[in-house]
Amino acid sequence: MTDIQRLDDRTVERIAAGEVVERPASVVKELVENAIDADANRVDVTVRSGGTDGIRVTDDGVGMDREAVERAVEKHTTSKINDIADLEAGVGTLGFRGEALHAVGAVSRLTIETRPRGGDVGTELVLEGGEVTSVGPAGCPEGTTIEVDDLFYNVPARRKYLKQESTEFAHVNTVVASYALANPDVAVSLTHGDRETFSTTGQGDRRETVMSVYGREVAESMIPVEAATETDRDGDGLPDGPLDGVSGLVSHPETNRAGREYLSTYVNGRYVRAGTVRDAVVDAYGTQIAPDRYPFAVLFLDVPAGDVDVNVHPRKMEVRFADDEGVREQVRTAVQDALLREGLLRSTAPRG
Ligand code: ADP
Ligand code: MG
Repeated sequence: MTDIQRLDDRTVERIAAGEVVERPASVVKELVENAIDADANRVDVTVRSGGTDGIRVTDDGVGMDREAVERAVEKHTTSKINDIADLEAGVGTLGFRGEALHAVGAVSRLTIETRPRGGDVGTELVLEGGEVTSVGPAGCPEGTTIEVDDLFYNVPARRKYLKQESTEFAHVNTVVASYALANPDVAVSLTHGDRETFSTTGQGDRRETVMSVYGREVAESMIPVEAATETDRDGDGLPDGPLDGVSGLVSHPETNRAGREYLSTYVNGRYVRAGTVRDAVVDAYGTQIAPDRYPFAVLFLDVPAGDVDVNVHPRKMEVRFADDEGVREQVRTAVQDALLREGLLRSTAPRG
């Protein structure tokens, strides 16, 4: 006889949390997204030992009152959408699943200090393994600070699979850099231990932000991509392809690296690892870059809400395009046009 049992809530919670929180960088991603959604002008990220020992994200956003923060750490609670129709219509926020705070709290010790903008009282709430262990008034600045300690202390299997400090930090760095690059009007900083990795001014344009994050050499080699809305090669009076626009910066072919982590691609403002888009960017360079080398890119795609599914996975890092081939073609053409304009493509590869 097969004995089928219902899992207890604690177990269900930790299993679900495992999908949202894979490693320290996933925690950082969720907290930074929340800070940006909270209209922050500053977001400061500090991690210890690559994030395995501690993560702190401070923002000067709208903050929360006591009632809101108690609600925010519950299961499936969000201020960002009301129902599935809102999601289908296209969300303007980075978050929408209402599960990150709860999930992070389920697998760590999490402390939230928060005060609403213009409010005169702050709140501190502590969660341990998903249980609120204390909540009360606290003196703190406007905005929110979230501290995550002892990540995976109650999920030893996951804890064991964390990589070396340097590897975990590299992932954290990629995430924070990507959000900094996409939000030049937000001052973003990343500190590892006592060392600042980078900080942006929050008053820069895209190129200046690239300089703060990747340095002068990379910033100076960046080429603007601005196309797609004007491309109408088939003469039907509409832009070719499914995208409303492709814009951003890509590097001179000579400025390249061994890894794909410098290809920052965004769909409707959301940082995603979309294979289609990354491949299209790399394709555009043709033989100008060695096969095992990759350019830098900070590339934004505008996709009509109905033509992209952002809810493919709990980590929200993947998206699905209705017209994958069309997206690929349009991105490749936009990047190729940019490189051609600068005289950086020797052979004009056939364009569709
Ligand atoms: P989601 O971002 O999908 O709404 P989360 O679990 O990440 O879900 O957050 C739950 C809610 O908590 C958010 O909808 C928001 O109202 C609130 N919140 C989370 N982080 C912050 C923050 N840094 N500043 C203000 N409010 C926040
Ligand atoms: Mg969120």
